Amino acid sequence: MFRLAPGRLFYCLIVSEPIGLAAMAEEIDIKKVARQHLDMDRFFAGDFSIKSEKSRTREQSLQAEADQAAGRMERIAGRVRACRRCPLGELRTNAVPGEGGWRGCIAFIGEAPGADEDAQGRPFVGRAGKLLDKIIAAMGLKRQDVFIGNILKCRPPDNRDPRPDEIVKCLPYLQEQLDVLKPETIVALGAHAARTLLDNNKSIGQLRGKFHDYYPGAMAKPIKLMATYHPAYLLRNYSDASRRAVWEDMQQVLKELGLPIPDHGRK
Ligand code: URA
Repeated sequence: MFRLAPGRLFYCLIVSEPIGLAAMAEEIDIKKVARQHLDMDRFFAGDFSIKSEKSRTREQSLQAEADQAAGRMERIAGRVRACRRCPLGELRTNAVPGEGGWRGCIAFIGEAPGADEDAQGRPFVGRAGKLLDKIIAAMGLKRQDVFIGNILKCRPPDNRDPRPDEIVKCLPYLQEQLDVLKPETIVALGAHAARTLLDNNKSIGQLRGKFHDYYPGAMAKPIKLMATYHPAYLLRNYSDASRRAVWEDMQQVLKELGLPIPDHGRK
């Protein structure tokens, strides 16, 4: 039994004296063992795994699909940045197309950019955004693991509610993004996002706490949507009950996705 580190085995193979038949047989064995050691090293070191041609091809096609999706998302973002479909396009500092995510991720959808988002061109970067980051972290995820976007891509003046005509003009961008990402689950943050995506007029109190179906298109299968309180609402109405409600909604999302529910001492 050869119990040498792979490096030592190679050393043996390279510097050994000219060998006879018995030694050759031994060398063949050594080569076999060396190969096995290397395979095991690679496998357990995690750098490479021993992959069949079939799984390599599948990986390559998944990578090609991911690259294509990233390209489509970038092209949508480019159109959003150039958009003048409604007057908000003239008022903005920056459009906020949304960010993060890959196929099958969770998509968090808010209402519209605020002042901080307008200044930076990124979604949820102000106070409400910091709270959303904490919610995502409490779920055991990172901001870059999920997609974060909005119904409206430009800031309404004085943070007023989105108007129906603005929603009608802007929503196709989000619909296209969701079509590319095909999220596993959508989390609608607040009444505007939930009502728009579910196409109804119910209150957030009625909508939150259970899954609904979001229909991405006539032929596509529905995506599970969880509605919950908007982080800005939580900041304004910070109570044990509102905080607990959001955490319960997020626990349902994790459960639906088969992800572990971090404890953090919360009950
Ligand atoms: N509120 C939202 O709905 N979206 C943002 O991006 C920021 C705050």
